[in-house]
Amino acid sequence: MRQLTRIVALFGILHFTSLSALAMPESPKRQNVILITLDGVRYHEIFGGVQRSREIGEPKHTPILPKVERVFREHGFVFGDRNRRGGSTMKISNRISLSQPGYRSILTGDFEEQCRGNGCGVIDRETIIDRLMDEGFESRDVATFASWDVIDRCLESKTPRAVKSIAFESVQGLTGVESSPFLEIEERARADRPHWGGSRRDTYTFEMGLKYLKTYRPRFLYLSFVDTDEYAHEDNYPGYVGALRDFDQRFVQLMDTLRSLGEYGQETSIVITTDHGRGRWFIWKNHSREWIDSTRVWALVLPSPGLRERSELRRSDRRRFAHVDIRPTLETLLGLEPRAAGPGKGRSLVELN
Ligand SMILES: [Zn+2]
Repeated sequence: MRQLTRIVALFGILHFTSLSALAMPESPKRQNVILITLDGVRYHEIFGGVQRSREIGEPKHTPILPKVERVFREHGFVFGDRNRRGGSTMKISNRISLSQPGYRSILTGDFEEQCRGNGCGVIDRETIIDRLMDEGFESRDVATFASWDVIDRCLESKTPRAVKSIAFESVQGLTGVESSPFLEIEERARADRPHWGGSRRDTYTFEMGLKYLKTYRPRFLYLSFVDTDEYAHEDNYPGYVGALRDFDQRFVQLMDTLRSLGEYGQETSIVITTDHGRGRWFIWKNHSREWIDSTRVWALVLPSPGLRERSELRRSDRRRFAHVDIRPTLETLLGLEPRAAGPGKGRSLVELN
């Protein structure tokens, strides 16, 4: 009996030891981030479902992104759901409510003053991708797959070093052999151009990005989609909602893929946002500074399973957020110290304890 007591006591100590080991801060593991942007998607649809019910023949507030919403509400953080009790606001970090300035502030973490339209040149300030390359990340570890060609000018301020596949251009940053699995998808994308021209359909951008994810397991993957904005400018509400529903399905595929990638999936965080909002009511199809809701954006942050227990909403200014907060968030989730804050710079949306 005494023997048994001793064994039980010993087991208790061992058990206690393993528990306290769990409570100790873990040694930093390699963390990865997937950034996703959906062009010109209003917070109204993200958090309020169907808005223009007559055009789509569905009751108002029918959920459009149920899978995405469930995962982020249960396991992540939601920003910009201003109409909910306890919700927050999130604004663009430029004065124009157009795409290129939006992408620039998302990727630099700076308020965008210089760029005032979609015709701006190559970005001339440090982006998150510049920083990752300067930190010594391998070029294959940092990759962008973008439907719209303008994104190319927002990625790197220096000579391009990271991998990228933009609109109808061939993938860059890989050797001929490495890029060959992507050629067949590129050809299908060129043969299936959308009628609005200028951008690759999101379905091909996603297919390439997912293939890249499985093959190279990058540290930072940026997937940039644009179908939503194109349908919206055509006043095609069913098309806009359909593009969002397609994304909901792609998100499920992405999560399934991450689960199938073992430890890599356990250490990969996801951040989703948009470059600008759109107008309200009958002017929903457009966006510019004249329409106040064009300045309203949102973000969804899902820390990797490995970081989830340690993640919390930032401690200060917890109800008002902006585009400039995205880059520091990406840095935090990657295990990097965000660049020093300054005037107009953002702060990480989440903190790790
Ligand atoms: Zn637009």
